[in-house]
Amino acid sequence: MLNNFIPYSTQSIDNKDKEAVIEALFSTHLTQGQYVKSFESRIAEYIGMKYAISFNSATSALYASFKALKEYVLQEKYKDDETFKNSKNFEFAKQQKSMSIITTPISFVATTNMMLANDIMPIFADINMDGNLNINNLESLLREDTIAICSVDYAGNGVDMQAFRDFANKHNLLWISDSSHAFGATYDNKKVGSMADMSIFSFHAVKPLTTCEGGAMLSNNDFLAKIANIVCSHGIEKKSLYNHDCTMLGFNFRLNEVGASLGISQLNKLESFINKREEIATFYDSYFQDNPYCFNIKIKDNVRSTRHLYPLLLDQSLICQKESIANELGNKNIGVQVHYKPIYNFSLYQKLAKFPILRNAEDFYHAELSIPCHQNMTIEQARYIADTLIKTFATYSKK
Ligand SMILES: *Cc1c(COP(=O)(O)O)cnc(C)c1O
Repeated sequence: MLNNFIPYSTQSIDNKDKEAVIEALFSTHLTQGQYVKSFESRIAEYIGMKYAISFNSATSALYASFKALKEYVLQEKYKDDETFKNSKNFEFAKQQKSMSIITTPISFVATTNMMLANDIMPIFADINMDGNLNINNLESLLREDTIAICSVDYAGNGVDMQAFRDFANKHNLLWISDSSHAFGATYDNKKVGSMADMSIFSFHAVKPLTTCEGGAMLSNNDFLAKIANIVCSHGIEKKSLYNHDCTMLGFNFRLNEVGASLGISQLNKLESFINKREEIATFYDSYFQDNPYCFNIKIKDNVRSTRHLYPLLLDQSLICQKESIANELGNKNIGVQVHYKPIYNFSLYQKLAKFPILRNAEDFYHAELSIPCHQNMTIEQARYIADTLIKTFATYSKK
């Protein structure tokens, strides 16, 4: 029995982080200073994109990204872009002032809430049993007003970037990548997020690296980055020192200096964080490989997942008892969680439209259980967790 509760995920903070936080806390500026600038250039360089704009959360970054997308259409900026200049969908969306985005129901609700906040309708497509969108399900869902696809790299396992890029280009859509789980993941040796028109990362405490609360939007597109930047800070465009203009309705979504300094410090440890989670996950992979109670999700050889989550899919015989199992594991100091209830089931969404039920999304939600996997864990703890899970599953499978 473990003495301390092990959550499914948690932050990892050391003395270097503490020094970084104190340094920023006692610097001249607590906001809009050098730490934010240098954090942004570090993450832009790390992912390999031209612009990085930091935010006080990924939710804010998503809001600003969808707003930028909307302005791209309304201001006809697509006409400057060789790939998209003859897009019928952008034309239609602009004329009709109606916009939709094809996305996954297996995500944190912020992904689509921020579409709604911009008057953009989510259209949900079904997933594969690895939790990621099945790209073959997207085409039949395209509507005249569809302006983008929005993928999520579930658990830190990147989607096939080239396939999503090709699909978006073929259908004249922008591709927004909610890579909140996947900062540092790669697909075919390319950084996850680096091929989308806009990529969003979260620096919430449980995510691959943290600024306490925080997020970022990365892009190679001058216009999209500019709008996201303006929305982040009051809708104000600086012209000269005391002459500026408020050109749009903006907010204060800015990350502060202390968070940014922590982010820089955390970035230095990102590789070791990912390696540590990989070690735990690899242990689980072989442990759960062959048992009658649950399946694990294989990560393809060409993918490096951040292993933000370690999802198990319970066997049919255990699904009805998942809640009791989760409670019992909690009593044994093992924190588990379910990622995610399909978004269209939430009452906000039920009131909005009649969304079709998606088979895999439902099955995934019913079977999924995220078990502890984070950089503070030891293999001994992982072994205790795995042993306890199998014992608990065995007991429940007889009930
Ligand atoms: C965590 C998360 C968000 C929101 O991130 P915050 O930084 O907490 O706002 C958005 N999308 C996904 C997929 C997430 O996991």
